[in-house]
Amino acid sequence: MSILKQDYNLLAAKKYTGNGMSKASPPMDIEKIFGENTFGREAMKARLPKGIYKSLLATIEKGQPLDPGVADAVAMAMKEWAVEKGATHYTHWFQPLTGFTAEKHDSFITPNRGGGAIAEFSGKDLVQGEPDASSFPSGGVRATFEARGYTAWDPTSPAFIVENPKGKYLAIPTAFASWTGEALDTKIPLLRSMQALSAQATRVLKLFDVKNVTSVYATVGNEQEYFLIDEEFYYRRPDLITCGRTLVGAKPPKGQELDDHYFGSIPDRVLSCMLETEKELYRLGVPVKTRHNEVAPSQYEIAPIYENANIAADHQQIVMLTLQRVARRFGLVCLLHEKPFAGINGSGKHNNWSMSTDTGMNLLEPGDNPHDNMQFLFFCTAVVLAVYRHQDLLRISVATAANDHRLGANEAPPAIMSVFLGEQLEHIFEQLQKGPATESKQGGLLGLGVGTLPHLPRHAGDRNRTSPFAFTGNKFEFRAVGSSQSVSFSNTVLNVIVADALDEMAALLEKKLKGKKKNKKAFEAAVAEVLREVLDEAMPVIFGGDNYSDEWHEEAEKRGLLNLRTTLDALDHLDDKKNVKLFEKFEVLSERELESRLEVFIEQYFMTVNIEGETTEALARTYVMPAAVRYLRELVETVDEAGDLDVSGVKETAAELAELVNKFRSAIVELVKQNKALGGEKVHDKAVHMRDDVIPAMNDVRHWADRLERVLPHDAWPLPTYREILFVK
Ligand code: ADP
Ligand code: MG
Repeated sequence: MSILKQDYNLLAAKKYTGNGMSKASPPMDIEKIFGENTFGREAMKARLPKGIYKSLLATIEKGQPLDPGVADAVAMAMKEWAVEKGATHYTHWFQPLTGFTAEKHDSFITPNRGGGAIAEFSGKDLVQGEPDASSFPSGGVRATFEARGYTAWDPTSPAFIVENPKGKYLAIPTAFASWTGEALDTKIPLLRSMQALSAQATRVLKLFDVKNVTSVYATVGNEQEYFLIDEEFYYRRPDLITCGRTLVGAKPPKGQELDDHYFGSIPDRVLSCMLETEKELYRLGVPVKTRHNEVAPSQYEIAPIYENANIAADHQQIVMLTLQRVARRFGLVCLLHEKPFAGINGSGKHNNWSMSTDTGMNLLEPGDNPHDNMQFLFFCTAVVLAVYRHQDLLRISVATAANDHRLGANEAPPAIMSVFLGEQLEHIFEQLQKGPATESKQGGLLGLGVGTLPHLPRHAGDRNRTSPFAFTGNKFEFRAVGSSQSVSFSNTVLNVIVADALDEMAALLEKKLKGKKKNKKAFEAAVAEVLREVLDEAMPVIFGGDNYSDEWHEEAEKRGLLNLRTTLDALDHLDDKKNVKLFEKFEVLSERELESRLEVFIEQYFMTVNIEGETTEALARTYVMPAAVRYLRELVETVDEAGDLDVSGVKETAAELAELVNKFRSAIVELVKQNKALGGEKVHDKAVHMRDDVIPAMNDVRHWADRLERVLPHDAWPLPTYREILFVK
């Protein structure tokens, strides 16, 4: 046997306990380091002429169009700041439809003929870039026009410095579009959707006679789950390297059954890694706040304080990049995949979402007086209506091959979208729907406008962890987002569907108020009517029970809710007429842009599964099968050479193993066949082939491989096992 377990060095793990602890760092002064690696307000204020700073601030804070005249001055200040920090290069940092971030670096320094070098970075370099972007997915948008893509500076998201022991560079957040102005990224639609939401929300606030609000923005805070494993195991698992998840691997006797990991104390090496990650994030201006152990062994979570959705989406990407980058310094690898280990909880990303006015009012915060309560109920109802009407879009926004392993398994919310309000609020909604509400559970308070809402506890006792979309006191929490996903599209969808609901409800209210004298009573009656009418339609989407149960699946079907089980089932709805109309109406995505996304999503599904299918085949044929056959030979030789010894047990073992090997072989043959088959010419047909033929064949190979893992000698098994990967910390 050539590959022996004893070969593991686990240097990182061992070395860490040996030396790492003694090399203590000084405690971090968060206040001092926060944002030091960003060209944020402080740096801008200190370095920009007053007028330019004011003009830029108007763009950042009030969303006013960027004055092109400021670009040169900002570029100069930004470059000076970056060079002082040690940056030699800059990049336009953008988010193509791959869901990842992309960058191409340019030097600040241009050597001149005289033998010297001059630092160059003009307003033009800041504002616009032209990466050679022909190989980013565009879903066909670009091909017919021209191969170029352009990046455009997003002044609302601060530029930041990326550090490496050998040097630094400046990253400038940008949007990415085609020559004809079509969005080729995830940022542009997000920004457009925020504008749509702002327009509708401020319109509603005007009806409620709220003064001084000029804009409303979506707020987002993401709780990110991830695994940290020793890098040595990672290097020895081709499936982890290629696919980010294990394609074979038997569940260990001790998994997460004991629930002893969740909120447990954090191992030293991991804690050091977290501290360093957080430090980097603070320096990058990402307001991380919480950390803890998650349910599965070696699984953890990090969450920042919420921010403006656009910044939050950028910061989310920075969090993922930083987690992965810093882990390596500790001999760890950060796995962001939604399901790295079968039979062990996967990772998701809770997307906390709300709306805030530019005056700082959270529109989903229940108020202290009747008027505020009406307003809260109006916005809250709009969200409920939005989810009800557009269950498909929310589901689509989390539809990836990787997330299919979670949604619907009993660890993550199901593919059926429903809203959890909490008992108290649900009761209030029932009252609203029935007619003039006169009582609440607390007794006699409600009357919509005739009293205050009972004080809703932020952390209502029974927090329902099974709901995909839960109200948690002053925000909604969309829990179906995948751990490795960009949060941009989910939030784009949230913004646009709520904008749509607000638009409809505002129109209804305006109609009811038309011609009536403006008085409090009439207004309240009109609001009550609107809420009742809306809830009449949307009530079926509210559900407070156990979303994991079979009963809910039946009940949801009776209620007519969608259950789009797999990625493809969901994606097939993206270009439904309703959705094309919705995105066009609010100018978030044109039909072409929507179509292009559909194509990219389907292609990504196809390619992901295709790669997994081929990697499974390779693992099965070149790792598992040879190991099984070698062991079989060992058994057979033992029998042959046994002489007078009674080796009936060995013989039986050999027979059992031979049978497993035969079944394994058949499964491989089938997978090879399915991997070879194309499934059709069109990407969609290929994707269907992946779902219907390749995945089952892969699962079957895995089934037999996992059976073999349970009987092969430990030192003959060619891959690190779950027990090793998950429990060495
Ligand atoms: P919970 O315990 O309900 O998950 P936390 O207070 O831990 O609540 O918050 C979880 C995430 O929700 C954090 O990232 C937090 O910043 C975010 N969050 C809190 N309030 C809002 C809000 N108004 N809008 C968006 N996100 C929010
Ligand atoms: Mg939460």
